[in-house]
Amino acid sequence: MLVVMQRQAPQPQIDAVVERIEELGLKAHPMPGATRTAIGITGNTAAIDPSVLAGMPGVLELIRVTKPYKLASREMHVDDTVVRLPFSQFGPGTFAVIAGPCSVENESMMRETAKFLRDQGVRLLRGGAFKPRTSPYSFQGHGEKGLEILRAVGQEYHLGVVTEVMDASQVEMVEAAADMLQIGARNMQNFTLLKAVARASRPVLLKRGIAATLEEWLMAAEYLLAGGNKQVVLCERGVRTFADHSRNTLDLSIIPPVKQYSHLPVIVDPSHGTGRREYVTPMAMAALAAGADGIMVEVHPDPDRALSDGAQSMTFPQFEALMASIRKLATVMGREVV
Ligand code: PEP
Ligand code: MN
Repeated sequence: MLVVMQRQAPQPQIDAVVERIEELGLKAHPMPGATRTAIGITGNTAAIDPSVLAGMPGVLELIRVTKPYKLASREMHVDDTVVRLPFSQFGPGTFAVIAGPCSVENESMMRETAKFLRDQGVRLLRGGAFKPRTSPYSFQGHGEKGLEILRAVGQEYHLGVVTEVMDASQVEMVEAAADMLQIGARNMQNFTLLKAVARASRPVLLKRGIAATLEEWLMAAEYLLAGGNKQVVLCERGVRTFADHSRNTLDLSIIPPVKQYSHLPVIVDPSHGTGRREYVTPMAMAALAAGADGIMVEVHPDPDRALSDGAQSMTFPQFEALMASIRKLATVMGREVV
């Protein structure tokens, strides 16, 4: 349920409605808007009797939110959410680029990559310290040591740092090193992790699960929002289909419905989405054209020697060409590359 307050409703009337909602054992989420305040209600297992609130001073109307996700829905929050990070942001009018290697391999390759990316105008550096690998025999990431490298390199080159947190027990440690916490595709429905990250003070990048529907994805986002973290960015990274010409099937068709049903920013990862570096540029361009708010791209100084995801990691010259193409198209699309 959404309570829409009258345009001139003074603060004491808004406070009274919030108090009444809480007396009912429910949670109130006041959302001040450009013209009026709305108050979202969550926590009810059955429909709320509208007469309890409808007659209160300052209340204009009550709107039933029909979707199972509430705080993530456009019904409850009409305006696009802007998620701000040091040096960059996700939202209307901008196109954010997150780039870096799949894994933090060592300090010198991170420094080399960060310097190159900064010279390309990139503001957000990625790199995995905790790696979710299909095989237990594959490189698992350097863990805490990897986080230290990321933090030092990010600070040195003035780049915001984005990295994955795989387990609830690691949230504090990752939060201390990163500017944005990534929840990987395999963990999209790890509800314990979602609840822990909801309590973190950093923005979250929530990847779509490998077989998740739009509703399941937005319900995962709902866990973060309901737990108190409102800074959520969604990331489409390809889903599992029968197709075997690419690693995953990058589902750009989900961008328009995400925009229709949710106010959260959404970006696209064409690296994991395709699995091949030569396919990344066309799909990155398509993501921008489809209305995505940014991209996440894997780049490596020597991709054929990468410890993970080498085949989909771009070389520096390829990435430079990608940025030139993105900048041209972004101008046409009315977006500033950030
Ligand atoms: C990654 O970004 O390196 C990663 C493991 O992504 P995903 O969770 O989408 O597979
Ligand atoms: Mn990867």
